[in-house]
Amino acid sequence: MESLFSKKDLKQMTKEKTYTCLECGLFKDAKNPRMKVTGKGKKRILNIGGFMPDTDDFQNKRWQSKAGKLLKLEYKKLGIDIENDCWNYNATQCYSPKANGFSITCCRRKVKEVIKKYKPHIIMAFGEEAIESLLGNKLKDFSSNIDKWRGFQAPDREYKAFVCPVFHPEMTVKNSRGRDKYVLLDDLQEEYSTIWRQDLNNALKCLDRKFPKNQDYEEQVQIITDLRILENIKEGLVAFDYETTGLKPYAKGHRIISASVCDGANCYAFMMPKLYKERESFLNILTNYKYYISSHNFSFEKMWTEHRLLVKIANEFWDSQLAAHILDNRRGITGLKFQSYVELGLEDYSSHIDTYIKASDGKSSNSHNRILELVDMDKHSLLLYNGLDSLAGYKLTEIQMNKMGVSI
Ligand code: SF4
Repeated sequence: MESLFSKKDLKQMTKEKTYTCLECGLFKDAKNPRMKVTGKGKKRILNIGGFMPDTDDFQNKRWQSKAGKLLKLEYKKLGIDIENDCWNYNATQCYSPKANGFSITCCRRKVKEVIKKYKPHIIMAFGEEAIESLLGNKLKDFSSNIDKWRGFQAPDREYKAFVCPVFHPEMTVKNSRGRDKYVLLDDLQEEYSTIWRQDLNNALKCLDRKFPKNQDYEEQVQIITDLRILENIKEGLVAFDYETTGLKPYAKGHRIISASVCDGANCYAFMMPKLYKERESFLNILTNYKYYISSHNFSFEKMWTEHRLLVKIANEFWDSQLAAHILDNRRGITGLKFQSYVELGLEDYSSHIDTYIKASDGKSSNSHNRILELVDMDKHSLLLYNGLDSLAGYKLTEIQMNKMGVSI
C-alpha cells in the first residue's frame, strides 16, 4: 500500500530552515567569536551548556564561570575530568547580551555538525537552552521546561547518543525581579542540589550501556488485511491500540477505524473489519486469559472495546500511561509521544496526520474527527501511526515492568 507521505516527504516536512552566522549576528559582540569545541572527549561525553557566558568569552575557554567550576568539581567527584574525558560546546558559540531563542535556532546547525563529527556516546544537556538546542526542532508541542526533561536518558535515533538533560549548574531563580538573579545550586535548598547530582550520576551510567540497536521502528510495523495471522500469537504480553472516529464511542456513528497489536516479536496494524467473523482472531486475544493485555491509557481502549466490539477484555494487565505516572509523577511526561522519545528515542511520528485524528470540536467529546478523510487519502499513514503506538506501548511496558521488578 502506497503512502501519501513518503519517508523523504516526512523528513522534508519536519526539516527546519537553517540560518547563517550573518543572520544570527552574535559574533559581532563577542571577544572570541565562534568558539571551537574544547576537550579531548576520551569518554565520549559531549557537554552542551547554555548561552555562551561572558567569563568564557573573556578567557576563550569554556566552563570558566562559578557554575562551570562547580560542574568541574562535581564531575571530578564522579571520576570525570571535564577537559580530558569530555568535549564541551554551548547552545550558542558567541557571547552576546542579546542572545535569545533565535540565536539558539541559528547555532543549532553548528551543534549538529559537532555531534556528527565527534559521535559522542552521551550528550549532557545542561539547562533549558541546551535542551532547546538539541530537541527544539524535533518534537511536536515542544517545551524546554527543565523540570519536565531533567533526569531522562533518551536514546536519540538521530544523534545515536543518549541525550541526558540535567539542571544547568547555574540556575535562574524566579523572583520579583524576574529571571535575572543567579545563584549557585549549592545556595539553593539541599533537595535541589541532590537532584542535580543524582541526575549527573545516573546519566554517567550510560557509559556502561550499549546504544540500542534496531531502532528502525517503522520497519517493524506490518500492515495486514487477513487477521488470522494474529493466531500466531500464542500467549504472553500483548499491547494494543485503536484509532477511532472520536474520543467517546457512545454517540451515533462512532466506530473503531483501525487497530494494532504487538507481541514484541511482531507488530500488526489493520483496518477494523466490519464482520464479527473477520475480527474473531483479534477478539480471541482480548478475551483470553493467556494474554496479558497492555495499552497506553487503558480506559480508552477498554471503553471502545466494550461499546463497539461488545466484548470484555479478560486480562487487563498493564496501563503504560499509569505506570509512567507511578514511576515518575511529574506533570506532562506520561503521554505516549513524550515517553516514546525519552525511553525509546522515537521522535514525533504523527504530526503529519494530527489534524485528522484529533477531535475537531475540542469542547464536545462526542464530536467526530476527520479520520475518514485520512482513510480515503492515505490509509497507510494511519496504519503505520497506529502500529507505532502499540509497538511503543509494548516496549514501554517491558521497560516499566523491568523497572518495577514485575514479570509474567
Ligand atoms: S552564536 Fe552560533 S550562529 Fe550565532 S554567530 Fe555565533 S557561531 Fe554563528
